[in-house]
Amino acid sequence: MSYRIVWFKRDLRLHDHAPLVEAARAGPVLCLYVVEPDLWAQPDASARQWGFVRESLRDLRRALAERGARLQLVVGDVVAVLDRLHALQPFEALHAHEETGNGWTYDRDRAVARWCRAHGVAWREWPQNGVVRGLRERDGWQSRRDAFVAGPVAEAPPTWTNVDLPWDEPPPRDALAAVLTDADAPQRQRGGRNEGLQTLQRFLASGGADYRRGMSSPLTAPDACSRLSPYLAWGCLSVREVGQATQARLAGAPLDRAQRQGLQAFRSRLAWHCHFVQKLESEPELEWRNLHPGYDGLREADWSDERFAALVQGRTGWPLVDACVAMLRETGWLNFRMRAMLVSVAAYPLWLHWRPVGHWLARQFVDYEPGIHWSQLQMQSGTTGINTTRVYNPLKQARDQDPHGVFVRQWLPAMRRVPDAWLFEPWRMPPEAQARCGVVVGQDIPEPVVALDAALRESKARVHALCARPEVQAGEVAVVQRHASRTGRREAPSRRRSAAERSQQELF
Ligand SMILES: Cc1cc2nc3c(=O)[nH]c(=O)nc-3n(C[C@H](O)[C@H](O)[C@H](O)COP(=O)(O)OP(=O)(O)OC[C@H]3O[C@@H](n4cnc5c(N)ncnc54)[C@H](O)[C@@H]3O)c2cc1C
Repeated sequence: MSYRIVWFKRDLRLHDHAPLVEAARAGPVLCLYVVEPDLWAQPDASARQWGFVRESLRDLRRALAERGARLQLVVGDVVAVLDRLHALQPFEALHAHEETGNGWTYDRDRAVARWCRAHGVAWREWPQNGVVRGLRERDGWQSRRDAFVAGPVAEAPPTWTNVDLPWDEPPPRDALAAVLTDADAPQRQRGGRNEGLQTLQRFLASGGADYRRGMSSPLTAPDACSRLSPYLAWGCLSVREVGQATQARLAGAPLDRAQRQGLQAFRSRLAWHCHFVQKLESEPELEWRNLHPGYDGLREADWSDERFAALVQGRTGWPLVDACVAMLRETGWLNFRMRAMLVSVAAYPLWLHWRPVGHWLARQFVDYEPGIHWSQLQMQSGTTGINTTRVYNPLKQARDQDPHGVFVRQWLPAMRRVPDAWLFEPWRMPPEAQARCGVVVGQDIPEPVVALDAALRESKARVHALCARPEVQAGEVAVVQRHASRTGRREAPSRRRSAAERSQQELF
C-alpha cells in the first residue's frame, strides 16, 4: 500500500495544516506524533510544557477521530521510528511543517532528512509562522511574511483514508517520567485547539479594549493580554488564522478608539512573533552564542550559583521580582514587561550570563518559543549589539506597575503583613516595625541578594565600557545587516543602525 506520513510537531491542529491537506489529497495517510524522550530531556523542556502538549494531543486525537482517522503516538527516536515503520510498511513521503526549534530539533531534522534521502522517501516541508527558510537577507522579508499571513487558510480535509501503525503500540503513559522530574504548574493554561479557539474568541470579543492600558502591569496583564502564546507556540492555532481573525475583527463591527488601537498593537505583536522566529531560523547559534561576539567573556567568569539560586527560588529580596517568580512557578506565564524585568535583573544587578537563566525561564514558560525566547534573552541582557541597553530597576517597576502592593501581596504571603510604608524596600524596616507587623527580615522575607544601586551602577558601567570599544562598535554593522527588521526599501549603511534600533525599541 502506498501512503504518506504526516508528522505532527509544533503544529497540533488540523486546520490550516498544509502538510495534511496535501497528503490527504494524494492518498492514504498515517498521522504520527513521536514522543521523543531525548527532546524532552533537553534543558529547555519541562513537565508543564509536556502537560500542555499532552492535552493538545488529546484534542487533536478527538478531531482526527471525527474524521475517521487516528493519531498514532509512538515513543522513541524519530529516525528509529521511521526506520521501523518503513521496514514493516514502506511509505512514499513524509509531510511536516518546517520547525524553527532549538539546536536539538535542528540536528534531529537533519538526521531525518538524511534518513529520507537514504531510503528514497520524499520529505516535504511547509513553511509556517511566516518564516522563510534559506533567507539570504532581511530586505523584503516583512512583505513576504505579510503575504503569507494573508494567504489562504487550508480547511481541514473532511475525511481521508486512514493508515494505522503496523504494530500494537500501548498508550505512552509514563514515557517521560524518567526525563521530566520537575513539577507541572498548577494554574497553567490548558492545552488544545478548543481552548485556543475559546481564548481567541474571548480576546477578539473584548475588542482588545484593555490591551494597551493593561499589558504592562502584572496585575492587569493576565486579563488584558490575549493569552494566546502557548496556543501559537505549540501550533494549536496558526499565526495565519489568528492574524486573519484579527483583521476581520478590525474590519467588522464598529470599534472604539481603545479597541482599535488595542487590536492594532496586538497585530504588531503577531508580526514580532514571526520576526523573532525568523531570527533564529537565520542564525540558529543565537540560542547559545552572543549575537555580537564582542560581548563574549563579559559575564562568563563571574557566574554565581548563589545569586542564581536566589533568583530561581524567588529570594532576591526585591518583592516584585520574587512575586513574579512565584507567579511563574504557579501559572507558567508572565507578561512581557515582567519577563523583561526578570532577565534584566539577572543580567545586571545579579550579573548572570543569559544562557542558564534562559534555560530556567524556558522551562518555566508554557509558551516557550525558542526564536522569541533566546532573542529576548540576548536583547534584555545587552548582548545583541543593536539594542540600546535597557535596564529595569525592580524598585521603580514596583512603584509603576504595582504601586499599592496588590500583586506582591497576592504572591508573597509574608508581604501581606508588611505595612505600606515598607512595601518597596521591606528589608529597611527597623526592628521595632518588624516586631509590630510580625515579619522578620532575613527569615520571613529575604534581604536583597546584592546592594541594588551599587550593583546596577557597576554592571551598567561594565557594559557601557565594552560598547564604547571601536571593535565592538564595528561589529554592530554585521549584526544589523543580518537581523534587524527593515521596512520597505534598502537603507543606506549609515542609517541602518538607527532604523534597526527604532524597530527594536518598539518591542519594549
Ligand atoms: C525574556 C523573554 C522571554 C520571552 N519568551 C517568550 C516565549 O518563549 N514564547 C513567547 O511566545 N513569547 C515570549 N516572550 C514574549 C512575550 O512576553 C510573550 O509573547 C507574551 O507575554 C505572551 O502573552 P500573550 O499571548 O498574552 O501576549 P500578547 O501581548 O497578547 O501578544 C500576542 C502574541 O504576540 C506574540 N508576542 C507578544 N509579544 C511579543 C514579543 N515581544 N516578541 C515576539 N512575539 C511577541 C506572541 O506570540 C503572543 O502570543 C518573551 C519575552 C521576554 C522578555
